[in-house]
Amino acid sequence: MKKTILTGLRPTGNLHLGHLFGAGQNYVKLQNDYEFFLEIADVQALTDNFNDPEKVRKNVYEITTDLLAIGIDPNKVNIFIQSQISEIAELTIFFSNLVTISRLYRNPTVKSEMAQKKELFGNDGESITYGFLGYPVSQAADITIFSGELVPVGDDQLPLLEQCREIVRKFNNIYGNTLIEPQPVLSETTRIKGLDGNDKMGKSLGNAIFLVDDEETITKKVMGAVTDPSKIKKDDPANPDICMVYYYHNLVTPKEELETVCSECKKGTRGCVNCKKQLIKNLNEFLKPIKERRKQYEENPEIVKDILEKGTNIAKKRATENMNKIKEAMKIDY
Ligand code: ATP
Ligand code: MG
Repeated sequence: MKKTILTGLRPTGNLHLGHLFGAGQNYVKLQNDYEFFLEIADVQALTDNFNDPEKVRKNVYEITTDLLAIGIDPNKVNIFIQSQISEIAELTIFFSNLVTISRLYRNPTVKSEMAQKKELFGNDGESITYGFLGYPVSQAADITIFSGELVPVGDDQLPLLEQCREIVRKFNNIYGNTLIEPQPVLSETTRIKGLDGNDKMGKSLGNAIFLVDDEETITKKVMGAVTDPSKIKKDDPANPDICMVYYYHNLVTPKEELETVCSECKKGTRGCVNCKKQLIKNLNEFLKPIKERRKQYEENPEIVKDILEKGTNIAKKRATENMNKIKEAMKIDY
Protein backbone atom coordinates (compact mmCIF):
# COMPACT_ATOMS: atom_id res chain seq x y z
CA MET A 1 0.00 0.00 0.00
CA LYS A 2 1.32 3.44 -0.93
CA LYS A 3 1.56 6.02 1.86
CA THR A 4 -0.68 9.08 1.62
CA ILE A 5 0.62 12.57 1.08
CA LEU A 6 -1.47 15.67 1.65
CA THR A 7 -0.33 19.18 0.93
CA GLY A 8 -1.93 22.43 -0.12
CA LEU A 9 -1.59 25.85 -1.65
CA ARG A 10 -3.67 28.93 -1.08
CA PRO A 11 -5.26 30.33 -4.27
CA THR A 12 -4.13 33.88 -3.51
CA GLY A 13 -1.92 34.40 -6.56
CA ASN A 14 0.20 32.59 -9.12
CA LEU A 15 3.10 30.33 -8.21
CA HIS A 16 6.49 31.98 -7.78
CA LEU A 17 10.08 30.77 -7.61
CA GLY A 18 9.70 30.17 -3.86
CA HIS A 19 6.93 27.67 -4.50
CA LEU A 20 8.85 25.99 -7.26
CA PHE A 21 12.12 25.48 -5.39
CA GLY A 22 10.63 25.23 -1.90
CA ALA A 23 7.67 23.00 -2.70
CA GLY A 24 6.73 22.24 -6.33
CA GLN A 25 9.89 20.43 -7.38
CA ASN A 26 9.51 18.24 -4.34
CA TYR A 27 5.88 17.41 -5.27
CA VAL A 28 6.96 16.42 -8.77
CA LYS A 29 9.49 14.00 -7.30
CA LEU A 30 7.10 12.55 -4.73
CA GLN A 31 4.14 12.06 -7.07
CA ASN A 32 5.55 8.79 -8.40
CA ASP A 33 5.71 6.96 -5.10
CA TYR A 34 2.75 8.07 -3.01
CA GLU A 35 -0.98 8.45 -3.05
CA PHE A 36 -1.06 12.22 -3.42
CA PHE A 37 -3.82 14.68 -2.47
CA LEU A 38 -3.07 18.27 -3.45
CA GLU A 39 -5.48 20.77 -1.97
CA ILE A 40 -6.31 24.12 -3.49
CA ALA A 41 -7.09 25.75 -0.14
CA ASP A 42 -9.75 28.28 -1.09
CA VAL A 43 -11.45 28.26 2.31
CA GLN A 44 -8.13 29.03 3.96
CA ALA A 45 -7.43 31.75 1.37
CA LEU A 46 -10.75 33.35 2.29
CA THR A 47 -9.68 33.74 5.94
CA ASP A 48 -7.60 36.78 4.95
CA ASN A 49 -9.29 37.49 1.60
CA PHE A 50 -12.95 37.16 2.65
CA ASN A 51 -13.65 40.57 1.11
CA ASP A 52 -12.36 39.53 -2.31
CA PRO A 53 -14.06 36.28 -3.38
CA GLU A 54 -13.40 36.95 -7.09
CA LYS A 55 -9.65 36.92 -6.47
CA VAL A 56 -9.81 33.56 -4.73
CA ARG A 57 -12.01 31.97 -7.38
CA LYS A 58 -9.83 33.18 -10.25
CA ASN A 59 -6.71 31.91 -8.55
CA VAL A 60 -8.13 28.41 -8.06
CA TYR A 61 -7.78 27.98 -11.83
CA GLU A 62 -4.57 30.00 -12.10
CA ILE A 63 -2.72 28.00 -9.49
CA THR A 64 -3.96 24.66 -10.85
CA THR A 65 -2.69 25.68 -14.29
CA ASP A 66 0.66 26.62 -12.74
CA LEU A 67 0.89 23.26 -11.00
CA LEU A 68 0.27 21.40 -14.24
CA ALA A 69 2.85 23.63 -15.94
CA ILE A 70 5.59 22.66 -13.49
CA GLY A 71 4.97 18.97 -14.13
CA ILE A 72 2.33 17.81 -11.67
CA ASP A 73 0.73 14.81 -13.37
CA PRO A 74 -3.05 14.77 -12.83
CA ASN A 75 -3.04 10.99 -13.29
CA LYS A 76 -0.82 10.65 -10.24
CA VAL A 77 -2.01 13.55 -8.09
CA ASN A 78 -5.60 14.28 -7.00
CA ILE A 79 -5.87 18.06 -7.23
CA PHE A 80 -9.02 19.11 -5.40
CA ILE A 81 -10.87 22.22 -4.18
CA GLN A 82 -11.09 22.50 -0.39
CA SER A 83 -14.51 24.21 -0.23
CA GLN A 84 -16.12 21.27 -2.02
CA ILE A 85 -15.20 18.84 0.75
CA SER A 86 -17.71 19.74 3.48
CA GLU A 87 -16.21 17.09 5.80
CA ILE A 88 -13.22 19.40 6.31
CA ALA A 89 -15.46 22.14 7.71
CA GLU A 90 -17.24 19.59 9.88
CA LEU A 91 -14.01 18.20 11.30
CA THR A 92 -12.74 21.74 11.95
CA ILE A 93 -15.69 22.24 14.31
CA PHE A 94 -14.95 18.97 16.13
CA PHE A 95 -11.26 19.89 16.44
CA SER A 96 -12.02 23.38 17.75
CA ASN A 97 -12.78 21.88 21.18
CA LEU A 98 -9.29 20.41 21.35
CA VAL A 99 -7.28 23.61 21.02
CA THR A 100 -7.03 26.66 23.28
CA ILE A 101 -7.23 30.25 22.06
CA SER A 102 -3.91 31.06 23.77
CA ARG A 103 -2.19 28.20 21.94
CA LEU A 104 -3.40 29.62 18.63
CA TYR A 105 -2.09 33.09 19.52
CA ARG A 106 1.29 31.54 20.36
CA ASN A 107 1.63 29.79 16.97
CA PRO A 108 4.68 31.48 15.36
CA THR A 109 3.25 31.22 11.82
CA VAL A 110 -0.02 32.86 12.89
CA LYS A 111 1.93 35.54 14.78
CA SER A 112 4.14 36.50 11.85
CA GLU A 113 1.30 36.43 9.32
CA MET A 114 -0.85 38.55 11.65
CA ALA A 115 1.98 41.10 11.85
CA GLN A 116 2.19 41.22 8.04
CA LYS A 117 -1.54 41.89 7.76
CA LYS A 118 -1.94 44.99 9.91
CA GLU A 119 -4.36 46.55 7.41
CA LEU A 120 -6.78 43.71 7.97
CA PHE A 121 -6.12 42.72 11.57
CA GLY A 122 -4.93 45.97 13.22
CA ASN A 123 -1.53 46.99 14.62
CA ASP A 124 -1.60 44.55 17.52
CA GLY A 125 -3.91 42.01 15.96
CA GLU A 126 -6.88 43.53 17.82
CA SER A 127 -9.13 43.03 14.76
CA ILE A 128 -8.10 39.45 14.06
CA THR A 129 -11.02 37.27 13.04
CA TYR A 130 -12.05 33.99 14.57
CA GLY A 131 -11.53 32.41 11.13
CA PHE A 132 -7.94 33.56 10.66
CA LEU A 133 -6.86 32.76 14.21
CA GLY A 134 -8.37 29.32 13.75
CA TYR A 135 -6.94 28.45 10.36
CA PRO A 136 -4.36 26.05 11.85
CA VAL A 137 -7.31 24.03 13.17
CA SER A 138 -8.84 23.90 9.72
CA GLN A 139 -5.46 22.90 8.30
CA ALA A 140 -5.28 20.05 10.81
CA ALA A 141 -8.66 18.91 9.49
CA ASP A 142 -7.40 19.14 5.89
CA ILE A 143 -4.60 16.74 6.63
CA THR A 144 -6.35 14.24 8.86
CA ILE A 145 -9.59 13.85 6.91
CA PHE A 146 -7.51 12.27 4.14
CA SER A 147 -5.39 10.32 6.66
CA GLY A 148 -2.36 12.18 5.36
CA GLU A 149 0.83 10.56 6.65
CA LEU A 150 3.35 12.86 5.03
CA VAL A 151 3.01 16.59 4.47
CA PRO A 152 5.53 18.31 2.18
CA VAL A 153 5.81 21.93 3.36
CA GLY A 154 8.15 24.90 3.48
CA ASP A 155 9.70 25.61 6.87
CA ASP A 156 7.29 28.53 7.42
CA GLN A 157 4.61 25.88 7.85
CA LEU A 158 6.29 23.68 10.45
CA PRO A 159 4.55 25.25 13.48
CA LEU A 160 1.21 24.57 11.80
CA LEU A 161 2.06 20.93 11.39
CA GLU A 162 3.19 20.70 15.01
CA GLN A 163 -0.17 22.09 16.06
CA CYS A 164 -1.91 19.50 13.89
CA ARG A 165 0.05 16.73 15.59
CA GLU A 166 -1.00 18.01 19.02
CA ILE A 167 -4.65 18.00 17.98
CA VAL A 168 -4.37 14.46 16.62
CA ARG A 169 -2.79 13.19 19.85
CA LYS A 170 -5.50 14.81 21.94
CA PHE A 171 -8.24 13.40 19.70
CA ASN A 172 -6.82 9.90 19.86
CA ASN A 173 -6.40 10.13 23.64
CA ILE A 174 -10.02 11.06 24.19
CA TYR A 175 -11.87 9.19 21.44
CA GLY A 176 -9.54 6.24 20.84
CA ASN A 177 -6.89 5.66 18.23
CA THR A 178 -8.56 6.94 15.04
CA LEU A 179 -6.37 9.54 13.35
CA ILE A 180 -2.87 9.38 11.90
CA GLU A 181 -0.20 11.75 13.26
CA PRO A 182 1.37 13.29 10.14
CA GLN A 183 5.07 13.92 9.54
CA PRO A 184 6.51 16.91 7.65
CA VAL A 185 8.64 16.43 4.54
CA LEU A 186 10.95 19.37 3.96
CA SER A 187 12.43 20.18 0.54
CA GLU A 188 16.18 20.42 0.17
CA THR A 189 15.66 24.14 -0.33
CA THR A 190 13.45 25.09 2.56
CA ARG A 191 12.88 28.77 2.00
CA ILE A 192 13.44 31.10 -0.93
CA LYS A 193 14.06 34.76 -0.15
CA GLY A 194 12.28 37.69 -1.75
CA LEU A 195 13.65 40.24 -4.25
CA ASP A 196 13.74 42.76 -1.40
CA GLY A 197 16.00 40.51 0.69
CA ASN A 198 13.07 39.48 2.91
CA ASP A 199 13.46 36.05 4.45
CA LYS A 200 10.57 34.72 2.42
CA MET A 201 9.36 35.22 -1.11
CA GLY A 202 5.59 35.33 -0.68
CA LYS A 203 2.62 35.69 -2.98
CA SER A 204 1.13 38.35 -0.77
CA LEU A 205 4.41 40.12 0.04
CA GLY A 206 5.05 41.94 -3.26
CA ASN A 207 8.58 40.51 -3.50
CA ALA A 208 8.16 37.53 -5.82
CA ILE A 209 9.15 36.44 -9.31
CA PHE A 210 6.14 34.56 -10.64
CA LEU A 211 6.45 31.70 -13.09
CA VAL A 212 4.05 33.53 -15.42
CA ASP A 213 6.00 36.82 -15.38
CA ASP A 214 6.87 37.95 -18.91
CA GLU A 215 10.36 39.05 -19.92
CA GLU A 216 9.62 42.73 -19.39
CA THR A 217 8.30 42.15 -15.86
CA ILE A 218 11.27 39.96 -14.96
CA THR A 219 13.65 42.63 -16.25
CA LYS A 220 11.97 45.31 -14.14
CA LYS A 221 11.99 43.13 -11.02
CA VAL A 222 15.60 41.96 -11.33
CA MET A 223 16.81 45.48 -12.07
CA GLY A 224 15.25 46.55 -8.76
CA ALA A 225 16.60 43.63 -6.71
CA VAL A 226 18.63 44.35 -3.57
CA THR A 227 22.43 44.11 -4.02
CA ASP A 228 25.40 44.71 -1.68
CA PRO A 229 24.79 48.34 -0.56
CA SER A 230 28.53 48.99 -0.07
CA LYS A 231 29.15 48.62 -3.81
CA ILE A 232 28.80 52.11 -5.24
CA LYS A 233 30.99 52.15 -8.35
CA LYS A 234 30.93 49.54 -11.11
CA ASP A 235 34.41 48.25 -10.18
CA ASP A 236 34.00 48.16 -6.39
CA PRO A 237 34.46 44.64 -5.01
CA ALA A 238 31.30 43.29 -3.36
CA ASN A 239 29.98 40.47 -1.20
CA PRO A 240 27.77 38.09 -3.24
CA ASP A 241 26.44 36.52 -0.06
CA ILE A 242 24.31 39.56 0.69
CA CYS A 243 23.22 40.14 -2.92
CA MET A 244 19.81 38.94 -4.09
CA VAL A 245 20.99 38.84 -7.71
CA TYR A 246 23.68 36.33 -6.83
CA TYR A 247 21.16 34.46 -4.68
CA TYR A 248 18.91 33.88 -7.74
CA HIS A 249 21.93 33.13 -9.95
CA ASN A 250 22.44 30.24 -7.56
CA LEU A 251 19.04 28.85 -8.48
CA VAL A 252 19.12 29.07 -12.26
CA THR A 253 22.67 29.68 -13.49
CA PRO A 254 24.86 26.75 -14.61
CA LYS A 255 27.63 25.87 -12.14
CA GLU A 256 30.68 27.04 -14.11
CA GLU A 257 29.07 30.31 -15.03
CA LEU A 258 28.08 30.72 -11.40
CA GLU A 259 31.67 30.40 -10.21
CA THR A 260 32.69 33.20 -12.56
CA VAL A 261 29.84 35.39 -11.31
CA CYS A 262 30.99 34.86 -7.74
CA SER A 263 34.70 35.45 -8.26
CA GLU A 264 34.25 38.49 -10.53
CA CYS A 265 31.84 40.02 -8.03
CA LYS A 266 34.35 39.58 -5.20
CA LYS A 267 37.18 41.03 -7.32
CA GLY A 268 35.15 44.00 -8.52
CA THR A 269 35.52 43.10 -12.19
CA ARG A 270 31.77 42.78 -12.77
CA GLY A 271 29.20 45.56 -12.78
CA CYS A 272 25.78 44.94 -11.23
CA VAL A 273 23.91 45.91 -14.40
CA ASN A 274 25.65 43.26 -16.49
CA CYS A 275 25.26 40.73 -13.73
CA LYS A 276 21.52 41.46 -13.61
CA LYS A 277 21.21 41.15 -17.40
CA GLN A 278 22.85 37.74 -17.27
CA LEU A 279 20.44 36.65 -14.55
CA ILE A 280 17.45 37.89 -16.57
CA LYS A 281 18.59 35.82 -19.56
CA ASN A 282 19.06 32.70 -17.44
CA LEU A 283 15.74 33.14 -15.65
CA ASN A 284 13.91 33.45 -18.96
CA GLU A 285 15.58 30.34 -20.29
CA PHE A 286 14.77 28.43 -17.12
CA LEU A 287 11.10 29.44 -17.24
CA LYS A 288 10.64 28.76 -20.96
CA PRO A 289 9.60 25.08 -20.82
CA ILE A 290 7.24 25.81 -17.89
CA LYS A 291 5.57 28.58 -19.86
CA GLU A 292 5.27 26.39 -22.94
CA ARG A 293 3.51 23.67 -20.98
CA ARG A 294 1.30 26.26 -19.32
CA LYS A 295 0.17 27.59 -22.68
CA GLN A 296 -1.40 24.26 -23.63
CA TYR A 297 -3.63 24.41 -20.56
CA GLU A 298 -4.38 28.13 -20.97
CA GLU A 299 -5.73 27.36 -24.41
CA ASN A 300 -7.88 24.51 -23.07
CA PRO A 301 -9.29 25.70 -19.74
CA GLU A 302 -11.93 22.94 -19.80
CA ILE A 303 -9.14 20.39 -19.27
CA VAL A 304 -8.16 22.19 -16.06
CA LYS A 305 -11.79 22.15 -14.87
CA ASP A 306 -12.08 18.42 -15.61
CA ILE A 307 -8.88 17.69 -13.69
CA LEU A 308 -10.21 19.57 -10.66
CA GLU A 309 -13.55 17.81 -10.87
CA LYS A 310 -11.98 14.38 -11.03
CA GLY A 311 -9.56 15.10 -8.17
CA THR A 312 -12.33 16.56 -6.03
CA ASN A 313 -14.53 13.48 -6.54
CA ILE A 314 -11.76 11.15 -5.40
CA ALA A 315 -11.01 13.39 -2.40
CA LYS A 316 -14.69 13.49 -1.45
CA LYS A 317 -14.88 9.71 -1.40
CA ARG A 318 -11.89 9.40 0.93
CA ALA A 319 -13.19 12.19 3.22
CA THR A 320 -16.62 10.57 3.52
CA GLU A 321 -15.12 7.22 4.52
CA ASN A 322 -12.92 8.79 7.17
CA MET A 323 -15.71 10.99 8.51
CA ASN A 324 -17.77 7.88 9.21
CA LYS A 325 -14.94 6.49 11.35
CA ILE A 326 -14.47 9.81 13.14
CA LYS A 327 -18.16 10.14 13.99
CA GLU A 328 -18.24 6.59 15.24
CA ALA A 329 -15.25 7.28 17.51
CA MET A 330 -16.91 10.45 18.82
CA LYS A 331 -20.22 8.61 19.39
CA ILE A 332 -22.16 10.90 17.07
CA ASP A 333 -22.90 8.26 14.46
CA TYR A 334 -26.71 8.34 14.72
P1 ATP B 1 0.42 33.63 0.92
O1 ATP B 1 1.31 34.83 1.03
O2 ATP B 1 -0.91 33.90 0.32
O3 ATP B 1 0.34 32.84 2.20
P2 ATP B 1 2.53 31.90 0.02
O4 ATP B 1 3.47 32.46 -0.99
O5 ATP B 1 2.96 31.83 1.45
O6 ATP B 1 1.16 32.71 -0.13
P3 ATP B 1 1.18 29.37 0.28
O7 ATP B 1 0.10 28.96 -0.66
O8 ATP B 1 0.79 29.88 1.64
O9 ATP B 1 2.07 30.48 -0.47
O10 ATP B 1 2.22 28.17 0.47
C1 ATP B 1 2.26 27.04 -0.36
C2 ATP B 1 3.49 26.21 -0.08
O11 ATP B 1 4.63 26.86 -0.62
C3 ATP B 1 3.79 25.98 1.40
O12 ATP B 1 4.27 24.67 1.57
C4 ATP B 1 4.86 26.98 1.69
O13 ATP B 1 5.69 26.57 2.75
C5 ATP B 1 5.63 27.00 0.37
N1 ATP B 1 6.28 28.29 0.16
C6 ATP B 1 5.69 29.49 0.03
N2 ATP B 1 6.61 30.46 -0.12
C7 ATP B 1 7.82 29.85 -0.09
C8 ATP B 1 9.19 30.32 -0.18
N3 ATP B 1 9.47 31.60 -0.35
N4 ATP B 1 10.17 29.40 -0.12
C9 ATP B 1 9.90 28.09 0.04
N5 ATP B 1 8.66 27.59 0.15
C10 ATP B 1 7.62 28.46 0.08
MG1 MG C 1 1.49 31.23 3.08
